[in-house]
Amino acid sequence: MESGPGSLSGLRLANRQRLLEALQDGGEISQAELARMTGLSAATVSGLVRTLSSEGELVVTKGVSNGRRSRMVKRSPRRRRYGIGIDAGRTHVRVVVGTDAGDVLAERATELPAWHNPQAALDTIGPLVDAVRADTGIEQHHISGIAMGIPAPVDTSTGAVTEAAIHPAWVDVPLQDELHRTFGRPVVVENDANLGAIALGSHPERQGAVVFVKVAQGIGAGVAVDGQLLRGHSGAAGEIGHLTLDPRLAIVCRCGRRGCVETVSSAESIRSALGTALERDLVLQDVLDLLSADNPVALHILEEAGETLGRALGWLAMILNPAEIALGGPLTAAGDAWLQPVRRGFRRAVLPGVASTTHLMLSPLGERTVAVGALLAGLIGARSPD
Ligand SMILES: [Zn+2]
Repeated sequence: MESGPGSLSGLRLANRQRLLEALQDGGEISQAELARMTGLSAATVSGLVRTLSSEGELVVTKGVSNGRRSRMVKRSPRRRRYGIGIDAGRTHVRVVVGTDAGDVLAERATELPAWHNPQAALDTIGPLVDAVRADTGIEQHHISGIAMGIPAPVDTSTGAVTEAAIHPAWVDVPLQDELHRTFGRPVVVENDANLGAIALGSHPERQGAVVFVKVAQGIGAGVAVDGQLLRGHSGAAGEIGHLTLDPRLAIVCRCGRRGCVETVSSAESIRSALGTALERDLVLQDVLDLLSADNPVALHILEEAGETLGRALGWLAMILNPAEIALGGPLTAAGDAWLQPVRRGFRRAVLPGVASTTHLMLSPLGERTVAVGALLAGLIGARSPD
C-alpha cells in the first residue's frame, strides 16, 4: 500500500476502535488490563494510549491495580470527534455526519444530475454538508475531518481521478484542494468501494481479507487485506467491473471493450436490458418495483446479471481468498433475488473449499456503507498528515 497524505490504515483503525470500545462504559482500567481485554500486545496498547492521550481522547493517571502501581486509562469526557462522510455516486450523493465510533447522527441524500460536470456536483454537495451539520447543531470548526468517495480510481495524494476511461471529466481535477477550499477542513478523497472496505474492515472481529463490492452505475471492489487497503500502483486495484468475462458479448463497455462484467451485471445494465425487453423507458426504481412484484422478465435478467457478477467475484476470490465479500449499492433492495444468483455464479468459479468458507453477503451497513466508510476515513485521515 502506498502511503502519503490522507493514507489510511484499516488495521490501525480497527485497533483504535477496539481500544476505545473497551473503554466505552467510562470506567478506569489499567493499561495491562486493557491489553488483556482487547487482545492487543502491551506495546500496541502503550503506543495507542500515547497517541490517543496526546489527541485528548484518553486521560492517563498513575494508580494501583491488583496491588501494583499501574498507568490507569479512561476516556476523556470532553472529547467526541465529529466527521462528515460523502458518498458521491454518478447519479446520487449521500452525506452523513457522525462520530469517530462510526455512529451516524444525521443523513441527507439527493439525486446528482450532472456528475459529468465537477463544479455542478460540488455545488450540490456543499449545501447538503451544511444541512447535515445544521440537523445536528455541530458547527464547522467542530468537524475534525471530511472524506468523499467517488466511483473511480483515485490518486489519494490529490484526490484526482486517474482513469480517463472511467471518469473523463474528473481526471486532473484536484478534488482534495477544491473540497478543502469549500469546507475549510482536512479532506480525504478515496475510491468509493475502498471506503466500503474500510467501513467493513474497521470492525475489530473482521481480520484477513475483506472485500466490498459496489454495484451501481458501474461495478468496483474495495479490498482490505489484514486491515490495509489494497489500492494498487495507480489506484485501480479491484476494478472488477472491467474484467472481460466474455469478449464475444455484443455490448461495448464505456471503456471501449466488449465483455466487461459491468455490461451485464451493473444496476445500469440491468435497467437498460429490462427497458429493452419490456419496450419501456425505466428508471432504476421501476426495476426495483418490478423485482419486488416478481416480474419474471426482471427476475431473469437479474439472475443472469447476478451469476456473471458471482463468477467475477470468484476470480477475485481465487487470487485473494477473502474471508468476507459484502455487496452494496441499490440492488441490495432486491435481497435474495440478487444474492442467490451471485452465490451460484461464485460457487461455479471457485474451488469447493473456497466456496464453503467465503462469507458472501449483502453489506450489513446497507446503502450507508460507503458514507460510513467516508466518515471513518475522514477522521483517521485528518489525524495522519505525515
Ligand atoms: Zn469495461
